[in-house]
Amino acid sequence: MSDDNANETTELTRRGFLQVAGGSLLAAQVPQLNVPPALGKKLGWALVGLGNLAIFQVLPAFAKSEKSKLVAFVSGRPDKAKQLAARYGVADKNIYNYENFDTIANNPEIDVVYIILPNNMHAEYTIRALKAGKHVLCEKPMANTPEDCEKMIAAAKAANKKLAIGYRCRHEPYNQAMIKMARDQEMGPTRFILADAGFNISLIMGSGKEKQWRLVKKMAGGGSLMDIGVYSLNAARYLTGEEPTEVYAMISTTPNDPRFSEVEENITFQLRFPSGILANCTSSYGGPLSRFRVVGTKGAFEIEPAQGYSGQHMRLLRGNNIEHRDFPTRDHFALEMDSVSESVISNTEPLTPGEEGLKDLRIMMAIYESARTGRPVKLA
Ligand code: NAD
Repeated sequence: MSDDNANETTELTRRGFLQVAGGSLLAAQVPQLNVPPALGKKLGWALVGLGNLAIFQVLPAFAKSEKSKLVAFVSGRPDKAKQLAARYGVADKNIYNYENFDTIANNPEIDVVYIILPNNMHAEYTIRALKAGKHVLCEKPMANTPEDCEKMIAAAKAANKKLAIGYRCRHEPYNQAMIKMARDQEMGPTRFILADAGFNISLIMGSGKEKQWRLVKKMAGGGSLMDIGVYSLNAARYLTGEEPTEVYAMISTTPNDPRFSEVEENITFQLRFPSGILANCTSSYGGPLSRFRVVGTKGAFEIEPAQGYSGQHMRLLRGNNIEHRDFPTRDHFALEMDSVSESVISNTEPLTPGEEGLKDLRIMMAIYESARTGRPVKLA
């Protein structure tokens, strides 16, 4: 509602009240307010894991969601869960812990469960949520192994519930525009994709003393590739609309850096696609990288930052000309959750189903194999 409309609404309401209170007019003569149509059904969501992403991105996003509402928490920290429940209006009876998690099956308020845990916990909690009869949105990377991804997909099929993976970039306007521009060949047929993703990781989590789980191999499944490089890989696949047939990768990790005793720091990988498109991708825990560029025969277009939560900007490069293009700013998580809710409501396939996560996991395993052996690896 615009400010003008808001003033008009207040004015009409006040006048209507005075008229009726004064008894001089019938209520039927009070001017009708022009209110927007009622929103459709909102599905109830439970968040599993109340860490950084949940607290600073996902919880605020519910205020901008049109088809998703917060109804429950699952957390190992009752103090934190209670504090957040008070702030976001979650009922005490809807706070669960990891032990009584499965009793969500008896809670009809919960339609969808959002798994926001360390990577090694994704498979277990996704499968438990599906067995409890709930739909699931699971954060990226889907799991630490392709075998776990397969089990998650099988659990969704057995339960006849939706399973979506948290590839939020697929839902936001800039990445969606890139996909359309590439398909429409706005710069001619694509020849190259350049996809970069990285940040400089801290050894310690937040203000605590614990080592960041992303640097512990058994929890994270690997290093920067599993966490942030997956964005480069996923983008190369959605910007081409093809599946790679071959990968070649190199890893480099700063010697004696205490952060990288178990997992890789930097990785570059190249992908060959069936149409002949090549992708050059980077992934780093050493420095900031966030750009996707599509190079066609007539020029190129790119977004930077590409994976940030906001601040996207598009540039089109034709010879010496640079054109700038911008789209409405939207909350990535609100769009993503609403897209999952809509797939449940309309019983359609989620935009980023479990199969997408499995494809990335299989390719990431091949990327690690290539880096280990120093040879290109063919993909089935
Ligand atoms: P985090 O460390 O801030 O939060 C993890 C949560 O899991 C915490 O609430 C923690 O208490 C809980 N937890 C339960 N058991 C745990 C254990 N044994 N060890 C550590 N934590 C445990 O992590 P995060 O940044 O919120 O990331 C969570 C997931 O979300 C990851 O899979 C990550 O890849 C993904 N993520 C996605 C995006 C995105 O943009 N889509 C951004 C950040 C993180």
